Amino acid sequence: MSSQESTYDAIVIGAGFSGLALLHHLREIGLKTLVVDGEDGIGGTWWVNRYPGVRTDSEFSYYSFSFSRIVRDEWTWTQRYPGGDEVLSYLNFVADRLDLRKDIRLNTFVDKAVYDEGENTWTVHVADGDTLTTKYLISGMGVLSQAIYPDIPGIDRFQGESYHTAHWPRTGVDLSGKKVGLIGLGASGIQVLPTIASEVDELYVFQRTPNFVVETNNDSVSESEMQHVRQTYDEIYARAAAHPFGVDMVPAEHSALEVSPEERERIFESKWNEGGFHFANECFNDLATNHESSELAAEFIRKKIAQIVKDPATAELLSPRTYSFNGKRVPTGHGYYHAFNHDHVHLIDTASVPITEVTERGLKVGDTDYELDVIVYATGFDAMTGTLTNIDIVGRSGLTLREKWERDGLASNMGINAHGFPNFFMSLGPQTPYSNLVVPIQLGAQWLQRALKWAAENDIKCFEATPDSEQWWAEETDRAGRATVMYSEGKKANAWFLGKNKPGKPEEFQVYMGGGHVYQEHARKAEKDGYRSFLAGASAAESVDA
Ligand code: NAP
Repeated sequence: MSSQESTYDAIVIGAGFSGLALLHHLREIGLKTLVVDGEDGIGGTWWVNRYPGVRTDSEFSYYSFSFSRIVRDEWTWTQRYPGGDEVLSYLNFVADRLDLRKDIRLNTFVDKAVYDEGENTWTVHVADGDTLTTKYLISGMGVLSQAIYPDIPGIDRFQGESYHTAHWPRTGVDLSGKKVGLIGLGASGIQVLPTIASEVDELYVFQRTPNFVVETNNDSVSESEMQHVRQTYDEIYARAAAHPFGVDMVPAEHSALEVSPEERERIFESKWNEGGFHFANECFNDLATNHESSELAAEFIRKKIAQIVKDPATAELLSPRTYSFNGKRVPTGHGYYHAFNHDHVHLIDTASVPITEVTERGLKVGDTDYELDVIVYATGFDAMTGTLTNIDIVGRSGLTLREKWERDGLASNMGINAHGFPNFFMSLGPQTPYSNLVVPIQLGAQWLQRALKWAAENDIKCFEATPDSEQWWAEETDRAGRATVMYSEGKKANAWFLGKNKPGKPEEFQVYMGGGHVYQEHARKAEKDGYRSFLAGASAAESVDA
């Protein structure tokens, strides 16, 4: 590697959706850009999350980039909710077709990046001891990439096989004929469960908190539909960008409380039949903000669970009662509830009696031992901040991002940049919108492209969030989050949105819940204002005024 170049205008960490979009857009404005990634393949979260059943919860048409006509015209999606292999193929196609590969260095894990105030550059240290230098450093490390294991005694003692969904072996795992234990029923576990149920001998599902799962069908995409999508991509993308959750759906206009019970039931039923995010987004406009409305949706889903799951005790155990619909991220199911009708799928309630310990031979819950060949951990991530605080990003005065956030709480200007970290940017940083993520990734790359082009034209040396902007955005993020059903006293779930899924992490809104469309308006306003809230350095501000 020492024979390769080491000085860049921009270095992006992460070769997933963010890294590819950023590389393309920064190259377009003439920046010598390098993407580095610790893994041995392109794809980011899709490269490592190879668990059985992994697929998008968003539909293909808006879970893809719109910025390249070549990619739009030449790529063909085959499934409405593409599986992990298909998304990986897409990302590799993007990399090839946009000729990105030559500026991507794999097997290059960044463990430290240090800002040099005198030179106004970042020195990027990679795990093999090499260093790179760059003016702009950008994180595209992913928001759900730092996997966490549960804090259960004896976790290293198990003599069988154990796997985390986020680090599933690329060669696959043969589960046939085995007794498998599954811990974790968020979006990952909900996809794993029905996929492996038909393969394993016995499946023990250890559930602490049930989820509201909206079932869907995965249709194949016809050539005529693909052709229509290709022709209307700009409209699809514009609608997704204008939607609070970044999906191509028309936001509902009415409250669930404004219609008669019969009409409400009719709407719930029709959107349930459309499946997935259609139910969450298209029934009524207040299912995420009004507890009474959210509870009506919750009751509808509980009735569906009771209809699908034959054993009433299992159906009741699968029915969430401690938090509202939308109190956690709503996952899409592909035969999830039906899987519990198999005799060899056993649901174990670990809310009333927690998992006591991991033993050499399995799991112990209270006095009961479960003998297992394999334990699958689908126990989630240190979301939004995990990748950023796992490595040392050392800003002005030697302070790391981790130390700053531990000291001051989460602080950033719209999740794009933080005070004390000049010319360091985040794609999908903490306090950015919770949504279908490909849309804000693309819009964010385009925002940064315009910002850095403007910086070059105006001789701006340093982008650095002002302290005022951080305070404003922290207050706005908190205000927006508290206005949702996620924040209902006495009914709060252990949602990663609030950092509550990781013991010891302070309870703060990790994401902006005010809507992707509102967030984009703020981003456009910052741009129109000449990026003032990003110009903490007085000299830079003066040069803009001039
Ligand atoms: P998650 O939503 O954080 O779920 C983690 C699960 O592990 C929860 O059910 C949690 O139970 C359980 N758990 C943790 N510690 C436990 C313990 N000690 N005992 C018993 N259960 C324990 O993680 P995830 O499923 O990986 O999903 C994270 C996010 O990734 C999703 O919300 C989504 O945004 C994204 N994702 C997206 C897709 C997709 O779009 N296709 C697929 C996968 C993931 P509690 O609820 O009781 O804490």
